[in-house]
Amino acid sequence: MTKEAKRMTDDEILAVLEETQAIRRGHFRLTSGRHSDTYIQCARVLEHPRLSLTLAAETVARLPEDIQQAVDLVVSPAVGGILFGFAVAVALDKRIIFTERENAVMVLRRSFEIPPGANVLIAEDVVTTGGSVKEVESLVLASGGEVLGVVSLIDRGGAPVFAAPFYPLLHLKTPSWEPETCFLCEKGLEIYAPGSRNLAKHPV
Ligand SMILES: [Zn+2]
Repeated sequence: MTKEAKRMTDDEILAVLEETQAIRRGHFRLTSGRHSDTYIQCARVLEHPRLSLTLAAETVARLPEDIQQAVDLVVSPAVGGILFGFAVAVALDKRIIFTERENAVMVLRRSFEIPPGANVLIAEDVVTTGGSVKEVESLVLASGGEVLGVVSLIDRGGAPVFAAPFYPLLHLKTPSWEPETCFLCEKGLEIYAPGSRNLAKHPV
């Protein structure tokens, strides 16, 4: 980082994510069918460019100094990682490219290149087990690059399946359970299915 940015506490980070509804509390039906009291949609905070840049600057400031200095290139998996990756790349003043799936395989398109020996930082918005991140990691290694680390806005607390060191900005375990055992259903609380396209704004 070229200049000292104002630092954020964990409480401030959580507050920003809640205020922008990137983290919602209530009663939700997840796409898996399970129920939860927390719903994460990082795109909601990334709607706000300045907030995104502030959060990314804090993410970068929390990286070990040697990694901050050594990164040549930020790589993000599309679509979720692109906006955060862009903000991280601004904080580092480095290039950003993204990977996409082609026939279910993670690839580089658009003439993007990872130069051999490039020191890569992978940026993703939210990581549960990091399946997409692992695919990006494999792609970087296959291209002859090095993965110095992985950053994300939120770590949902699954065991990461990638090998590189992980530097999430916020740890947030989000428990979920089967509908039959849901204490929020038992209380008769209205349920929302935000992952469902047509029901996004309506109780179901
Ligand atoms: Zn429920």
